[in-house]
Amino acid sequence: MPEENKLEVHCLNCQRTDQEAPVVALRYKGRQAWICNQCLPTLIHHADRLADKFAQLEG
Ligand SMILES: [Zn+2]
Repeated sequence: MPEENKLEVHCLNCQRTDQEAPVVALRYKGRQAWICNQCLPTLIHHADRLADKFAQLEG
């Protein structure tokens, strides 16, 4: 696999990596993050919680 595919990706909510669970890309207010399949329901039902986590991202 090419090196660039080894970039570390982890879930915004639970910090699992894409080695441990499928993750999907998110964008919110110009910032990008990732969320795993298990946390996706949290995003849907508690978007406010994840908005707080986005606010803590650098940038
Ligand atoms: Zn997660």
